[in-house]
Amino acid sequence: MTEFTDLKAIVVGAGAFGSAIAFELARGGARVTVVDERPLAHNASGIAAGMLAPALESALDPASIGHFPLLCAARDLWPAFAEALGPTGLERCGALLKAPQAELAGITASLQEAGARCERVGEALFTPEDWRLEPRLALAALRHALLRREGCSAQEGRVAAVTARSATLADGTVLGGDAVILACGYGGLGLAPELSTLTPIKGQLLRFPDAQVVEGPILRSLVGYVVPSRDGAVAGATMEEGRDDLALNRDALDRLKVEAGWLSPGLGLARSNGHAGVRAATPDGLPLLGRSRNGVYLAAGARRNGWLLAPLAAQVVMRAIEGRVAAADAMFSLGRF
Ligand SMILES: Cc1cc2nc3c(=O)[nH]c(=O)nc-3n(C[C@H](O)[C@H](O)[C@H](O)COP(=O)(O)OP(=O)(O)OC[C@H]3O[C@@H](n4cnc5c(N)ncnc54)[C@H](O)[C@@H]3O)c2cc1C
Repeated sequence: MTEFTDLKAIVVGAGAFGSAIAFELARGGARVTVVDERPLAHNASGIAAGMLAPALESALDPASIGHFPLLCAARDLWPAFAEALGPTGLERCGALLKAPQAELAGITASLQEAGARCERVGEALFTPEDWRLEPRLALAALRHALLRREGCSAQEGRVAAVTARSATLADGTVLGGDAVILACGYGGLGLAPELSTLTPIKGQLLRFPDAQVVEGPILRSLVGYVVPSRDGAVAGATMEEGRDDLALNRDALDRLKVEAGWLSPGLGLARSNGHAGVRAATPDGLPLLGRSRNGVYLAAGARRNGWLLAPLAAQVVMRAIEGRVAAADAMFSLGRF
């Protein structure tokens, strides 16, 4: 465990990335203030389905192909991380992929070649590599764990300007510290030069409030998924590149419902609510983690795997704050574009 007993840190953004970083810094003894312009979980992290899916993401998401080892290493940080937090809904539930046989054969072969465990179950493919958590529970646990630490706090406010040692809120309040970490998702553009490489990807999904499912695997097709959840099963999700609005689109939600009904027949006619969030993406799909040219630290560009990557992102940012960058961290460097 890294020691940060002399550090006063300001973390801007209380999504998966900011909350994980704040918690790790606080665990190391830092006094941390988290600032967010919105209430807890009113962000992409609160909307997300909560899959921690190194296998099927590396098979189905074009930007994640070839990243199974990285995503798997990120997933493997979760059990100890969750253990230190309390309830997050972490389940090693596995995932079942339904797809035409020709596609399944190719995906099975490429997963096995990457070292992922998987097996054919009837007409589907099962992998135990993919897990899930409950995003809103996890955000609440992260907040609770932070506030239990001495000298740590959370406050609402929009950060309008930053320096290496301060964050100025829109109302003029200046928060001072030894390190400022921006974990603003697709917000905060203009607060650091490297954030200009981010583009938005809007995501809509459906939640089925009457289908509170706590057991069973994630169900996936080539274009959709159904994730069990105690808040009601979740079916997702659209990938709308270049869109940063939160408007719900009836046609898109209807398509998600048809796919959900194919994966889990009871859902086709079940009551559902639409939700939308905005993911931030870099040109290569990997996040920006490290120290900006303007002296603040960045944790942004989580794209569609921010929950999966959160504990790993926290470790990389902690190393950057210590000035101790590992060779493997180069893949996240801010200067790579
Ligand atoms: C539909 C959908 C489904 C998804 N499913 C999954 C999944 O199954 N598994 C997975 O791993 N990932 C999933 N994701 C992706 C995941 O949600 C994101 O990668 C992750 O939430 C990003 O976390 P973040 O902390 O970077 O950003 P966010 O969650 O967006 O948090 C950023 C925070 O910064 C705050 N902020 C921004 N600017 C300012 C400012 N100037 N001042 C103060 N506060 C500010 C915002 O209010 C916000 O709370 C999904 C995303 C979507 C949209």
